[in-house]
Amino acid sequence: MASSRRSLIGAVVTSPLLAFLPAPPALADSIAGEMRRALEARGGWPTAIWLRRQSGEEVFADFRRPDGAWLTAGLSALSWAMRDYRSNAAVAMNTALIEVLARVQTGLSQVHGSAVPIILQSGYRTPESNAAIEGAARNSRHMMAQAADVRIPPFTPQQVAAAGAVAGAGGIGLYATFVHLDVARERFWRGAAAGG
Ligand SMILES: [Zn+2]
Repeated sequence: MASSRRSLIGAVVTSPLLAFLPAPPALADSIAGEMRRALEARGGWPTAIWLRRQSGEEVFADFRRPDGAWLTAGLSALSWAMRDYRSNAAVAMNTALIEVLARVQTGLSQVHGSAVPIILQSGYRTPESNAAIEGAARNSRHMMAQAADVRIPPFTPQQVAAAGAVAGAGGIGLYATFVHLDVARERFWRGAAAGG
């Protein structure tokens, strides 16, 4: 399991497969190229993530060892940080999503020249919370712990969306002030709602 996962991620990081997701025209941004170069230059696994909730609460979690082994304590801290914003219900977040978020943050931090946190607008949602959000999909991946709505200032949502594509996100929703990233099948959309 560990080795097959390693080879999968390794292939994504080091080969032209990085370009597997055709960037929508709107995402034709130099950030994508800078992200690819940054991740290729860095190599290896992302092992940590810096995430801040809108309330200001934040976590800096080491979620994996350099050899690729997952660190339960870090994953638990992250899953708590990504808990439902209304009920505080927390579930184990999907590790592929954490992988994508960590690569986005690592790559954009490299591009920026210093670490930039991910500002989390929405992570896990209970069905009740999801139903209360205007514009949220009825079968939202947030309810499966497979999606996050994020901002990463000073990067624009369009730049974060481009970074998400490079990092291997499946679904990418571009909104005026944030980006939805998930690890379901590849798709792209623009949203106008307050919650995606
Ligand atoms: Zn979303």
